[in-house]
Amino acid sequence: MAPVGLREWLAIAPVLASGKLARYGDDTGGPLLRFEADFCAKFNVQHGLTMSSGTAALVAALVAAGIGPGDEVLVPAYTWIATAAAPLAAGAVPILVEIDQTLTMDPTDIVRKITPNTRAIIPVHMANMVCDMDSIMRIAREHRLIVIEDACQAVGLTYKGRRAGTIGDVGAYSFNQFKNINIGEGGALVTDDPRLFARARMYHDIGSLFRGHLDNANEPPILGINFKANQIQGAMLNVQLKKLDPMISRMRKRYDAMTEILAKSNMMRVGPHNDPTNAAGLHVIFETAEAAGAFAAENKRGVYRLYDSSRHVYTNWQPILQQRSGHPAMNPFNWSDRKIEYTPDMCAQSLDILKRTCRISLGENYPLALVTYLARRMVRQRSSATDELSYAT
Ligand SMILES: *Cc1c(COP(=O)(O)O)cnc(C)c1O
Repeated sequence: MAPVGLREWLAIAPVLASGKLARYGDDTGGPLLRFEADFCAKFNVQHGLTMSSGTAALVAALVAAGIGPGDEVLVPAYTWIATAAAPLAAGAVPILVEIDQTLTMDPTDIVRKITPNTRAIIPVHMANMVCDMDSIMRIAREHRLIVIEDACQAVGLTYKGRRAGTIGDVGAYSFNQFKNINIGEGGALVTDDPRLFARARMYHDIGSLFRGHLDNANEPPILGINFKANQIQGAMLNVQLKKLDPMISRMRKRYDAMTEILAKSNMMRVGPHNDPTNAAGLHVIFETAEAAGAFAAENKRGVYRLYDSSRHVYTNWQPILQQRSGHPAMNPFNWSDRKIEYTPDMCAQSLDILKRTCRISLGENYPLALVTYLARRMVRQRSSATDELSYAT
């Protein structure tokens, strides 16, 4: 996460002074338009649209792609609940797919979960770990599925030279307080498809038909909602965008240094990555759930076992597992072609991996020397704990 400070404060001051806080009504475009142009140039994508959140970007992407009642959307079993909730907001239902040891969707399970009702895949680049996009895109093209990349937790990361979020048909980013770009709350959608962009822009702004967009790709107006961002968010985003790549390069340096130390110890295995040369997310996998739990307990700060980050594990998504919506008649599970059933053990492979895996913070805002010291201490603590255990038995 990039810290927020004086630069953001200085950037929002002129916006406040101008009184032009809203996205529309200011014909110069303002900070939001500048951010979208710079973001698209940096990420090498045609169209970008800032929104109120990453969840909003996912919902707008699904609606823009024409996904709705009767459709099934594949989502991973390990992600923030918003990924699985977004299809429901569009009237479709989520189908859960296993993750593999890269902590992202297992392509072999994607194939298993495809039915005649499947319309889209939402691969999630989880915790700065990129998905196996080559396999996912190949499967999607074979089965004519739309790919909506959830890059909310991997803003700026690359997969084989391309930015996560720009490889599929449409990508969603989050700029909330816990993400690589941090403005408190915010999000964005990107796509190379002018039609998808026009529909997403209309959907995100209920007043779009009064804006006079001349580049609407001949799309008739569709009903929308209000997911707009404001110019204060835009001003902060312009500052944060400049911090993004330097921060990712600090992460990569720390990843390399820590990985070298941890890989040498034979008590844990550094988790695989779908693009190891650009890795900026570190996780270690143990033989047993107990060893992973002990490692997390020994270190506390900066280390946690993935299974214990409960919000991200599907077994804790009660409203989805119980198929409960705000109004019973507006429940997408009643509109699906077949009966959808969820069980707590439906993604057993994911649960096994999550129980044996710990994530290690890269400490990108700390000195490199401190981070390598901590990595050495992690190994030392683990080896003395396992020594004690072998004396005891
Ligand atoms: C944060 C996040 C979202 C949603 O972002 P918000 O901006 O909080 O709405 C979606 N998916 C994943 C994987 C996330 O981590």
